Amino acid sequence: MKYKTGEKPGKGSYTCTNCSTIVNLDDDSDRLPPCPKCNGVEYTK
Ligand SMILES: [Zn+2]
Repeated sequence: MKYKTGEKPGKGSYTCTNCSTIVNLDDDSDRLPPCPKCNGVEYTK
């Protein structure tokens, strides 16, 4: 399952598909940001 920047996939840890940086969302209403390291827009959970 893939997730993109701007989506609200819910709490959890998401891994950038480009550089494997992990982004944590603490709230179900948080949107996925662009990857802080590579500016990527696609994640896996
Ligand atoms: Zn990245």
